[in-house]
Amino acid sequence: MPSADRVRAAREIAAVFGPGLRVALTTHVNSDGDGVGSEVALWHLLSAAGMRPAIANATPIPERFHFLLPPGADHSAHAARAIEDADVIVVLDISDLARLGHLAGTVRSAGVPTVCIDHHVSPGSLPAGPRLVAPEASATAELVFDLAMALEWDLSPDAARALYVGILTDTGGFRFANTTPRLLRVASALLERGLDPESVYETVYGSAPEGRIRLLAEVLGTLVVEPDVGLAWVTVPPDALARHGVTADDLDGVVEFPRSVAGVRLALLFRPIANGRIKVSFRSLGNVDAAELSHQFGGGGHRKAAGASLDGSLADVEARVLAAARSYLRGL
Ligand code: AMP
Ligand code: MN
Ligand code: MN
Repeated sequence: MPSADRVRAAREIAAVFGPGLRVALTTHVNSDGDGVGSEVALWHLLSAAGMRPAIANATPIPERFHFLLPPGADHSAHAARAIEDADVIVVLDISDLARLGHLAGTVRSAGVPTVCIDHHVSPGSLPAGPRLVAPEASATAELVFDLAMALEWDLSPDAARALYVGILTDTGGFRFANTTPRLLRVASALLERGLDPESVYETVYGSAPEGRIRLLAEVLGTLVVEPDVGLAWVTVPPDALARHGVTADDLDGVVEFPRSVAGVRLALLFRPIANGRIKVSFRSLGNVDAAELSHQFGGGGHRKAAGASLDGSLADVEARVLAAARSYLRGL
């Protein structure tokens, strides 16, 4: 059973829900398994409770998660309209407007209750609405599970499978520091609903397009290691995604390779994104705080996994972030 805090938050959220209401579900740009899994599970839960949910994301849902999507659930192609038409908005897996991409303004001015369910460390910048925010939660999917339990909503096998994808992907397949005893109990409860973990693994991780593997080979070829400070990084060449016919989702997990070099305490991945900006992924080990370092560049995230988006050329951003990273590591 969820903690008293989470039960209280769940009841506040239930108070803005009601049969017949149109509920727009959204998550951060370049959605991941936790964002999409949480949206899909909530779509099932709200549909069963007589509501009219619609998933409305700023960027397309990655191919590898399409198997989760019920027909007609994804309205991302006209996301702004789905949000404007909603009676309630639910923002999942993020607390900051800025990470909603081109939907930030639409959500800010919607004028309806904006529910937030999230596990990031952030002061938050969303419009008013009830919040189920718990940085100690392993995944947003864990909190959606808690919402269902607190409200005694039945979790269908399809909803359970979507939540399982969320916790599987956010824990790196039950390997990262957020793999807690409690999370494994939640995973166990999800398995009891009859999902098949082998087929989920096959679909999420075991069916890569060839381009994902060729991209991996090319990016790993850029590896630089500085053993004296315990720093390693890789760089995605500007045109690499297009050349291999893949999307940003296909880079998921690549930063684990520089992190896995013996003696490395901080790993970085640099990649060009839209509008001449550079996205940096930070991954740390031990007492190195990736979120703290990312804050220097307006980013955020968790202690061991954080991100930031910076203006500037690839060479310029690399020079600035690497200098900050070296001095941070030397100062520990
Ligand atoms: P990523 O490196 O994209 O896998 O993200 C790792 C963590 O950092 C996740 O918790 C993200 O929510 C967070 N994060 C990624 N990019 C940003 C950003 N531009 N600003 C704030 N947080 C971010
Ligand atoms: Mn996420
Ligand atoms: Mn998450």
